[in-house]
Amino acid sequence: MRQQIVAGNWKMNTTPTEGFALAKDVIAQSAQSPNNVELIICPPFTHLAEVAKAVRGTRIHLGAQNCAMWAEGAYTGEVSAKMLANIGVEYVILGHSERREHFGEQSAILLSKIQQALGNGVKPILCCGERLEERNAQQHIAVVNAQIESVISGLTAEQMQQVVLAYEPVWAIGTGLTATAQQAQEMHAHIRATVAKHFGDAQANATPILYGGSCKPSNAAELFAQPDVDGGLIGGASLKASDFIAIAQGFKE
Ligand code: PEP
Repeated sequence: MRQQIVAGNWKMNTTPTEGFALAKDVIAQSAQSPNNVELIICPPFTHLAEVAKAVRGTRIHLGAQNCAMWAEGAYTGEVSAKMLANIGVEYVILGHSERREHFGEQSAILLSKIQQALGNGVKPILCCGERLEERNAQQHIAVVNAQIESVISGLTAEQMQQVVLAYEPVWAIGTGLTATAQQAQEMHAHIRATVAKHFGDAQANATPILYGGSCKPSNAAELFAQPDVDGGLIGGASLKASDFIAIAQGFKE
């Protein structure tokens, strides 16, 4: 049985004060979501140390939205995986389409970041997803498989055990458009097959693959009911604790 996960990507939203209040809200409401679902919140860097203290001893796990591709040194403005691990960060989102688009993050950079994360005991949530024009040109499966393959082929079998994948079609992120449950299932099955090709069926069957892209309380249950959809990476709807928890309720106890 794969771990079911609902992770909130807060992006560059909330002040530290607002974020702390949101984290408290999520903690307070978390008892209403099924026990077997792992809940992760990924606030901005400025919030992490304070939120880490708030979530300690609760069922909420903490993630960051990025980390440096280097261990330490003269990289002004960067935050290392070691720093994140030191304050209790357990996950880091890597390869989000916004980072690919605005910061030019491609496979080689992502692989370095994943190595940094794993080397410090932080689990990467590696994102992939096609643009609308790629889907319209029927290239979506090839594009996503290439994104995944180019990174995971650089990992050892032991490292792969720590990786969570997230399929986020770019055309569905923040647009209100959601992949249908069938579109999500189709892609997730291809992603799992790509993992199997490199690491075998047992690892493929153990790797959680999350769906992201305008996931909300009204569509979560149908998406999560798909055999290869193991949860969600939630953007906008994770900024309201009740919506975030309602999404987690898309999983049956
Ligand atoms: C995301 O950016 O990870 C995301 C899924 O955003 P949204 O839920 O707002 O589409």
